[in-house]
Amino acid sequence: MDNLHFPLLALARLRMGTDGKGVITLAAGAGCPLSCRYCINKRLLKEAPREDVTAEELIERIRIDDLYFRATGGGVTFGGGESLLHAAFIGRFKELCPPEWRIAAETSLAVPRENLLPVLSAVDEFIVDCKDMNPDIYHSYAGGDAQLMKDNLEVLLESCGAERVIVRVPRIPGFNTAADQRKSVEILRKMGVTRLDLFDYVIRDE
Ligand code: SF4
Repeated sequence: MDNLHFPLLALARLRMGTDGKGVITLAAGAGCPLSCRYCINKRLLKEAPREDVTAEELIERIRIDDLYFRATGGGVTFGGGESLLHAAFIGRFKELCPPEWRIAAETSLAVPRENLLPVLSAVDEFIVDCKDMNPDIYHSYAGGDAQLMKDNLEVLLESCGAERVIVRVPRIPGFNTAADQRKSVEILRKMGVTRLDLFDYVIRDE
């Protein structure tokens, strides 16, 4: 038995159509290596009370929706923050939770390569927020290194197959254009991505 903990910020139950297949419970964890200009979770990440839970404790809290998961093919989506900062925890969670629960992870892939290893088999679907494939746009918007995300995406595609990876490609007002978005799509398709979700960020006054 190990003592892995997940820094739980919030649990959102009975979600449909936004975080993966079927009925979903979203488990949001603290921490993110990026600093996106329009991060909708900034306040949550900074101010929400955080509770460190074990995999057993989290499973017991989520189990209330077991029947919904089984009936719809849904399960648990780990988000945040950056879910793959907690990759070892997710691996442990998958070992202990009912096998019917579908596990998804929302991620920017801005994590060290070794964080991918525990989740390659534990996560059924990766929902990747790529920001933009242009390194300059990526850096100016998110403050990170696009090459790290790209390298990790290659690993995911090779190890898990394109059907388990959906890449979200936003148009971000003030940072990229529809033409930039199309260029990102072109690069992603060349890499072997087949599931793409194109959308526009809606910016509200802060
Ligand atoms: S990756 Fe997500 S959680 Fe992290 S700063 Fe960007 S929008 Fe916020």
